[in-house]
Amino acid sequence: MTINFFKTMKPIFYLFIYSVLFTLTFCTTQKSEDDQTDTVVEEVIEEPLTLYAFEVGDILVKDISIFNPGVDEGQQVHFTNSAYLIKHDKGTLIWDTGLPDALADSTEGNDSPAFLVKMPKTLSSQLAEIDVDPATIDYLAVSHEHFDHTGNMPLFNNATILLQEEEYKSLFENEERPASALDSLKGNAYVKLTGNHDVFGDGSVVIMRAPGHTAGHQVLYINLPETGPIVLSGDLYHFTKNRENKGVPSFNSDKDQSLASMDLVEQFLIDNNAKLWIQHEMKHEGAKWSPAYHR
Ligand SMILES: [Zn+2]
Repeated sequence: MTINFFKTMKPIFYLFIYSVLFTLTFCTTQKSEDDQTDTVVEEVIEEPLTLYAFEVGDILVKDISIFNPGVDEGQQVHFTNSAYLIKHDKGTLIWDTGLPDALADSTEGNDSPAFLVKMPKTLSSQLAEIDVDPATIDYLAVSHEHFDHTGNMPLFNNATILLQEEEYKSLFENEERPASALDSLKGNAYVKLTGNHDVFGDGSVVIMRAPGHTAGHQVLYINLPETGPIVLSGDLYHFTKNRENKGVPSFNSDKDQSLASMDLVEQFLIDNNAKLWIQHEMKHEGAKWSPAYHR
C-alpha cells in the first residue's frame, strides 16, 4: 500500500520540489535585481535558543542533614554538580561552572569532613566536545560564590561577569578573601546586579535575584521554545525532599531571606507554567546532558 502510494505520488512529489526550487530561484533573482537600487539587507540566520547541561563533578555529602536540618541525620547522599551553556542569537552565557577541572588530576578526589568531591569529566573537555572555546563566551554568571559553582570561572577570561552586587563584592572586592585562581577575572567587564536582569533583552533568559543561601544568590529563567520555560535553581534547593519540606541548610546566610526566595520562585513557576531544575539533582523529566541539548 505504502509502495503503491509512493509510486503514484512520486511524479507529483518531484513536480512539487521543482516548483519550489523554481520559485526560490526566481525570487532570489528578483531580490538581487532589487538590491541594486535598494539598501542591501544582510541575511540574518537566527540561532535558536539552545541550552546545554554539563555534569562537572560529583559530591558525596557525608551527612545530608546539613542541607535539611533534623531530617535523615547521618545519611550519605551523592549530589551531581552541574553547569550550563546558553546559546542565544545575541550571544552566549555560561551559568555556573562546577567544581574546578584540576580536581580531575586526582582519582581519589578531595576529601573533607563534610564532602568527598571528584571530577569524572572536566568542563573544558565537555566544551571542546561541542566545539566551544571558553575564551569566546560573552557572559558569565554563577548562582552564588560557593566553590562547587565557581570552580571553572577562570576559563571564561573574556566574558562579562553578571552577579548580584553582594556576590561580586565578596568574590572580587573582598580584601580578606585569600588569593585564588578567581583573581584572574578581576580585570573582566562586569555588571553588579541589584535585582532581575534580562540578559539578551528579549525576556527569554533572565537572571532572578533570590538571596538567602548567600547574600547575592540568584536563579536563572530560560524560556526554551520547544522544552518550555524552566528555572535553574542554583542552590535555592539541593534536592526534591529539600524542596518539599522547605529545609534551609544550616550554613545559609539568611533563613528568612531563603524562605522568602523559595516563595518568590514557587509563585513565579506557577505564574509562568515553568519547571524547576534542581541543579544538584538534575534528573528531571526530559533533562539531558551535553552533547545532547535542549531547544
Ligand atoms: Zn552547590
